[in-house]
Amino acid sequence: MKIHVEGLQITPVSQGILLIHQKRPPFYFSCCDGLLILPNKENNRNAIILDANIEPIHVRALVKQVESIKNYVCSHGHMDHIAHVHAWEELGTKIWAPHPENSCLTDLKHFYESFGFNDKLDFSVIRQFGKINGYEKCKKVNTFEPGDVLDFDGYKIETIPLKGHSKSHVGFFLPEEKILHVSCLGFDMKNPGKEGFGPWYGFKECSISQYLLDIDRCEKIFLQNARYLTSSHSYIVNHPDLTPFKYMRKKIGENHAKIEHALKNINPKINTGEELIGELLKQDIFFPKRKMKDFLLEIYTLWEEWMIKKHLEWRRDRQK
Ligand SMILES: [Zn+2]
Repeated sequence: MKIHVEGLQITPVSQGILLIHQKRPPFYFSCCDGLLILPNKENNRNAIILDANIEPIHVRALVKQVESIKNYVCSHGHMDHIAHVHAWEELGTKIWAPHPENSCLTDLKHFYESFGFNDKLDFSVIRQFGKINGYEKCKKVNTFEPGDVLDFDGYKIETIPLKGHSKSHVGFFLPEEKILHVSCLGFDMKNPGKEGFGPWYGFKECSISQYLLDIDRCEKIFLQNARYLTSSHSYIVNHPDLTPFKYMRKKIGENHAKIEHALKNINPKINTGEELIGELLKQDIFFPKRKMKDFLLEIYTLWEEWMIKKHLEWRRDRQK
């Protein structure tokens, strides 16, 4: 089956599995790549979509060419994975998402509360963030627990908890085709050699040490069981190319070096709590906040604050 949709890059991963990528997302956090699992005669009679959060216009064009997409599985509750899922639901696809972040799909207020935006920001900030990314809510979302094996008419999808990134965040393993989809773990090279931001841990609930364990776990699955690796923001990697894992560890290491460097520029008398964080935030270590304003400045400041705190936490843990 040859599928072509204007604005989408559709690449075969293996027989019957396609990587779906929207070429030009309207905003940085509005889309993510995912997999289309086409029906085959043996066990899956209906197509399944894994975490392809693309704009409604592309969803409609794709559904016209692939009949009977019965199930859609979301990997976690971050904006780039939830904004347009409603478009699939509107065309009759059943939506699945991991507990507890499933609630982010049905209510933007839950997205606001789930990731600690409500500690610092007014809801209006998140309303604007939702709007710029095209967020619309779903009506009904079915849930599963991270780690569950999903079974759609006999077609099995293993979910892998990867909690360093978010409480509910899961990767997927397709045992039949031996594809490991690491979702938003942080392999975000669009093309070989083209670096992105890398692993993302700008929320209270994130953890760098857990992140490193998640990377190890995926590397092991990839080496032992998989033929291909895909992710939410990257190209397809073939076994046994370890680029994704080396890249993700390197990015975390580089971020840490930036923090160590920034600490050297700070008066040693400032060594506690909020004052130290405030001084580090002034240095724009991860994001060019100086160039930002309004609600984006508020959001990026919150993310950077948590990224800094996660590195300071990790630093303390390693010194013990
Ligand atoms: Zn994410």
